[in-house]
This record gives sequence, C-alpha cells and structure tokens, in this order.
Amino acid sequence: MKEISCKLLVIGAGPGGYVCAIRAGQLGVDTVIVEVGKPGGTCLNVGCIPSKALIHAAEEFDKVSHMAGGKSPLGISLSAPVLDLGKTVAWKDGIVSRLNSGVAGLLKKAGVKTVHGWATFRDGKTVEVETETGSQVIRAETIVIATGSAPVELPFLPFGGSVISSTDALALSAVPKKLAVVGGGYIGLELGMAFAKLGADVTVVEALPRVLAQYDAELTRPVVKRLAALGIEVMAGAKAKGLSTKGDALLVETADGKNAKVSADKILVTVGRKPVTEGWGLDQIDLDRSGKFIRIDDQCRTSMRGIFAIGDVTGEPMLAHRAMAQGEMVAEIVAGHKRSWDKRAIPAVCFTVPELVTVGLSPEEAKAQGEIKVGLFPFAANGRAMTKLGEDGFVRVVARADNHLVLGIQAVGQGVSELAAAFGLALEMGSRLEDIAGTIHAHPTQGEGFQEAALKALGHALHI
Ligand SMILES: Cc1cc2nc3c(=O)[nH]c(=O)nc-3n(C[C@H](O)[C@H](O)[C@H](O)COP(=O)(O)OP(=O)(O)OC[C@H]3O[C@@H](n4cnc5c(N)ncnc54)[C@H](O)[C@@H]3O)c2cc1C
Repeated sequence: MKEISCKLLVIGAGPGGYVCAIRAGQLGVDTVIVEVGKPGGTCLNVGCIPSKALIHAAEEFDKVSHMAGGKSPLGISLSAPVLDLGKTVAWKDGIVSRLNSGVAGLLKKAGVKTVHGWATFRDGKTVEVETETGSQVIRAETIVIATGSAPVELPFLPFGGSVISSTDALALSAVPKKLAVVGGGYIGLELGMAFAKLGADVTVVEALPRVLAQYDAELTRPVVKRLAALGIEVMAGAKAKGLSTKGDALLVETADGKNAKVSADKILVTVGRKPVTEGWGLDQIDLDRSGKFIRIDDQCRTSMRGIFAIGDVTGEPMLAHRAMAQGEMVAEIVAGHKRSWDKRAIPAVCFTVPELVTVGLSPEEAKAQGEIKVGLFPFAANGRAMTKLGEDGFVRVVARADNHLVLGIQAVGQGVSELAAAFGLALEMGSRLEDIAGTIHAHPTQGEGFQEAALKALGHALHI
C-alpha cells in the first residue's frame, strides 16, 4: 500500500474543496486533494453551470418560438425553430468539460497534488483512498472535509425509470412530453420553467401553500405570473404520494385532501439536498453534528482538532459561492493567517423567469429588529428594462429607519442576477441609503432601479 504525507488534505474537489486547495497551494502549503469524480463537484458537473446552460438554451428557443408564432412586438418573424436536445446537451457537456480541465489546470498550477478515488478516514490524521491502481494512504496535519451534498430521494418515489433527479434532468436525450416536478423550490422551478420553454407540459407539485416559499410573496409574484403564462400548472399544498402502477403518472393528494393523478412521462424530484456524511468514515472520527450537517465554528473548525469542514456538508445556505468563501478562508487559516467568518451577507440568486436576487434581510426579517424604511422601484419605470421587454419586476431596498444603514436588497426581473454583485458590495461595505442614492448609476441600465429604490426609501425618487 502506497503512503504519502502532506500538510493539508482536502476531501472533495467541488467549489469549496478546489478553492481551498488552490489558495493553500498559492500560499505554499503542501496540499493534496482527493476527488472521486471530475473536478468541480456538483456545481460544475451537475449543478450551477449545466443548469444555467440548459436555462439559456431554453430561453433562446422560447424567444425564437415567439417570433415564429408572430407574437414578437419587435417586428421580427421567422419560421418555426427546431430543437435538437442531443446537440444542446453536447454543447452543455462541452462547457462542463472545458471547466473541468480549467479547475484541474489551476490545481496543478498552484502545486496541488490530485488523487483520484474515494477517501475514507482511518483516524483523525489518516485517510485511505481507493484509487484505480490500489489503495493509497495519506497522512495529513490538517484535513478539510468538503464532501458536498446529494439530492434527497423520496422513499415512495425512488430515483430510477421515469423518476429522475436534477442530475438526470440535465442529461435527457429528449424533452419529456409531460413533466411532473415534485418540489417548487429554486431547482425545481428553474428546471421546470426551462423544460416548459422547450415544449414540455409541466406540472409542479408543492407541499407548502406556495412555490419559492423561502421568499416573500411580493418578490415571487412576477415568477408566479410567468409560471401561468408558460402554461405550468402549480398544485400548491399538494403532496406527492407515489407512482401509478403503470409508472406513467404521479399520484397526488391535493390541498383539499382529494386523490389526483398527474400523467407524466418523467417525474423530476427536487425536494432538497442532503449533506454527504456517509461512506467516508465519519463514525471513525465522531464529529459533532448540527442536525444532519457537520457542526463548524466561525473558522470552519469541526469538533476535532485539525479537521475543518466547508461547503454544503456544513449546512445552509447550500450555495457554491459560500463554499468557495469558506474554502479560501480555511486555506488562509491553515497557512497561519488570522481569519474568521465575518461576511455580512451571502447573496442568493434564483434563475427562474424572471430572475430573483436577495442579499441580507427581507422587510419582515428587518422589521423584527426595529423600525425600517423600504424603497421599491418598479422596472415598469426603467427605460432599459422597457427596451428589453423586461418591465415585470422591481428592486427593493430595506434600511434601518434611524441611520439608514442598508439591511437587505431584493430584486426580481429579467437579468437581475447580474445586480447581485452591486447588492452584495453595498451590504458588505456597510452602505447607507445616501451612499447608493448618491452614486451615479449609468444610464440606461437596470442598475438605475437600485439607485431609485434608495431614493424612494429616502422619500424623493426621481422617476416615479
Ligand atoms: C441543479 C442544481 C443547480 C444549482 N445551482 C446553483 C446556483 O445557481 N448557484 C449556486 O451557488 N449553487 C447552486 N447549486 C448548489 C451548488 O452546486 C452547491 O452549493 C455546491 O456545489 C457546493 O459545493 P461543495 O464544494 O460543498 O460540494 P460539491 O460541489 O457537492 O462537491 C463535493 C465533491 O466531493 C466529492 N466527494 C464526496 N465524498 C468524497 C469522498 N469520500 N472521496 C472523494 N471525493 C468525495 C464529490 O464527488 C464532489 O465532487 C446548484 C445545485 C444543483 C443540484
């Protein structure tokens, strides 16, 4: 059995793990990373990137379909488009594979050694990896667990056959005629809306009284409107119960307690993700948990000295950029820097139609802390939004009433994901309403909505 030793061992090369390893390598820390799959983890291979590629293709197809249907107000008409989903998926796979090589190259450039295989703890300082060429033992002074998350499977709707996970949905060879989506969270709606645009007849079954329930109703209203416009039926307050005997329908208990059948050739289950805490010897090291996640402190240290954990395995929000920020911080701590988690906010983007962005506190959450001011500026009054047929939506700024410190920013609208950077920066810099209102925002851009929302909260918006 081969043995190597290193200062830092990272388990899992998702956004958390690979960023941690690259930063550690840059800082001269002797680092090894172990990955059983391809570099990039869930995000790059079966999450953020491929889903956004599919969403973009669906958006383009929908756009030209409207033009072909003579419904475009832009005066453009053309003949009916044809979709070759195989080609779309191959294009998406090409992006993923370019990024796989990119991450592998960055790890190499930083001097990180990559070991391919499944890692299992033997004890708090030793890990055994099953590689293609046999077992490899790695001893490390410090170990970072970045094993990520996996889709939650419903016991009465196990994955297989017509029941698919988000991973399967990103690799279909044909658009399902009828798609039932179980779970109206962001992954279910992003994919459900994309397939509806590609021509599928989509039904969303959500157990809670409304979809995207983690957001307030004012914010999700434009998305709900668009779901209806896309012909997506939303069964809210309904429980998926199982598969019909023939496997061609989803059995549902509706909000009023009746039994219903949703015929579907594919049933996409997106009811959440669970941390990967099994199969790698967690029992050998007996770390404290926080619910199903690994418990960490403000430096991502676990309950065992010398073992850190980052990313989805440590809890919500399960987002790639949180994992990356934790990875970078831990690498610097291992290299001897004084660091701890001091972020004011983690932006969250939902790539539905239209898109949603939230940073910091919602009006309800902020109100619970004291008196607030809220400014909302609709895109219906924004010139750039009009030129993009993107009038549905708004930017909303939430601030303390006494000193105008910005506590939260939300937006819904076409392409607002790109405003996440400005919103995050404003919060991280401790901006007040006057800072945003006093910043010249380029015209004509949707970003002007941000400035106007701050002006509105101050009581003197200019364009409404
Ligand atoms: C469809 C979908 C869309 C998403 N869209 C977004 C989005 O738009 N924005 C966003 O921020 N987030 C998005 N996410 C979430 C995002 O993918 C995760 O938050 C992110 O990947 C978490 O990073 P991580 O490093 O913690 O873990 P992961 O990316 O899950 O990586 C963990 C890695 O560890 C490896 N591994 C696990 N155990 C072992 C072991 N014992 N030995 C060796 N290797 C091991 C796995 O193979 C995996 O590669 C999406 C997720 C999905 C499913």
